[in-house]
Amino acid sequence: METADIVIIGAGVVGLAVAAKLSENHESVFVFEKNLKFGQETSSHNSGVIHSGIHYLKGSLKAKLCVKGNIMLYELCERHRIFYKRLGKLTVAVTEEEIDELEKLMRQGQDNSVEGLKFLEREEVKKLEPNVEVEKALLSPSTGIVEPDELMNLFYAQARKNHAVLATETEVTDLRKTDVGYEVSGISVGEKFIVAAKTVINCAGLCSDRIAAMTGLDVDKLGYRLHPCKGDYFRLVGKPPVTMLVYPIPKGAGLGIHLTPDLGGSIRLGPNSYYVDKINYEVESSEREFREDVETFLPLIRERQIQVDSAGIRPKLQGPKDPFMDFIIRHEADRGLFGLINLIGIESPGLTAAPAIAEFVSEIYENEIKR
Ligand SMILES: Cc1cc2nc3c(=O)[nH]c(=O)nc-3n(C[C@H](O)[C@H](O)[C@H](O)COP(=O)(O)OP(=O)(O)OC[C@H]3O[C@@H](n4cnc5c(N)ncnc54)[C@H](O)[C@@H]3O)c2cc1C
Repeated sequence: METADIVIIGAGVVGLAVAAKLSENHESVFVFEKNLKFGQETSSHNSGVIHSGIHYLKGSLKAKLCVKGNIMLYELCERHRIFYKRLGKLTVAVTEEEIDELEKLMRQGQDNSVEGLKFLEREEVKKLEPNVEVEKALLSPSTGIVEPDELMNLFYAQARKNHAVLATETEVTDLRKTDVGYEVSGISVGEKFIVAAKTVINCAGLCSDRIAAMTGLDVDKLGYRLHPCKGDYFRLVGKPPVTMLVYPIPKGAGLGIHLTPDLGGSIRLGPNSYYVDKINYEVESSEREFREDVETFLPLIRERQIQVDSAGIRPKLQGPKDPFMDFIIRHEADRGLFGLINLIGIESPGLTAAPAIAEFVSEIYENEIKR
């Protein structure tokens, strides 16, 4: 039987970042990815926003790893010449009640140590974004955009340079605890395989609850069950009416339909949010929903054409009626599973947080697992 010190299941941005980090100091790091290529699921179906950290509860992993990841990501982009833009973001209030929500976001952002937050009055917003009609806005200057594929290429190249091995078309179908670690089995390019691994790191995104269940964990009892939540995008045709990211006050399971300039300057609208049973990337929402939401702060959308763009699916722990749920990043030693680290519910801001998540996982490995 083949052996490995560390097996990472899943080569999205998180699995690749973890592989790049752990392979700096360790040999025998393997990444198993079921698809033909890395990064074909959530990591390439998102907004590409480098979030500031205003949206997450104080003290949560989402808040801490987002704020840290934001700083790390800009440094990585600078150092490795990855194209990014620090555009800044306006979160906008269009009614008096929404101003209360904006104030809550400001307090939360300050609690999370997000730097540079500032309220802007109607006229100040007009100076920055003449087409945006609002009562008040919260400016977060550290929000930006990056190309997720470029980031994944970097993590992949770093992992390769450190001799980590990425096996694509390699699906893990079973995970069994042994006396010394785990028997990881599955199908690789049509052939069955079994590898004996000392440590397993579950970075399987939308399948991470199923991977956890393979080890015998009761995912329902532990709150590990994922509720896939889809988000569709439309694209604005013609000249971009804004230069910054513009977000409404969050509602529902997402952050509200927002305007995101991409690196070419063209504007995407979305994502919205709705729970789904099946994974498919067809855009299923109506143009009307998008127009109505965006019209509240960008009236000129009435005269503009929009077209269907793409969709992504959030691996959410939070079900339709649940409150805020944090990322789960956990060494399961106390549940009889020494050497298993589960990463579950890595939805937004997982792209921003990826380098900080990798450091967090590496600390768990060095302090609790390495023998
Ligand atoms: C609509 C949308 C917009 C978003 N916007 C942003 C944003 O602007 N900014 C931000 O910071 N975050 C954003 N996110 C969140 C971000 O995209 C995710 O947090 C991040 O991509 C998660 O990466 P991952 O590696 O955990 O998951 P994934 O990219 O899903 O990777 C998991 C990998 O595991 C593989 N896998 C699964 N099961 C197995 C198995 N059994 N065997 C082998 N391989 C397996 C999959 O094939 C996949 O490649 C957004 C998400 C969505 C859905």
